[in-house]
Amino acid sequence: MTARLVDCPNGHRVKPVPVLYGLPTREAEADARDGAIVLGGCDPTFEDQRVGDCPVCGTPISREAVLAARARASRGT
Ligand SMILES: [Zn+2]
Repeated sequence: MTARLVDCPNGHRVKPVPVLYGLPTREAEADARDGAIVLGGCDPTFEDQRVGDCPVCGTPISREAVLAARARASRGT
């Protein structure tokens, strides 16, 4: 999968830090400490709304922002 840059609500164009839902494994906990992923908790309700966090400001990034980035990429702009 190609890394896709997404606009966060605060205007950063970033690669979102992925959110892991459910009970984290020991490995996932270590990744979260390293900042490679964000732990989203055991409630997957938000999985559709929040695909990742901005690595710059920590703001949750919505699926809409990812879809907007995808549309922008397909237009070639
Ligand atoms: Zn940001």
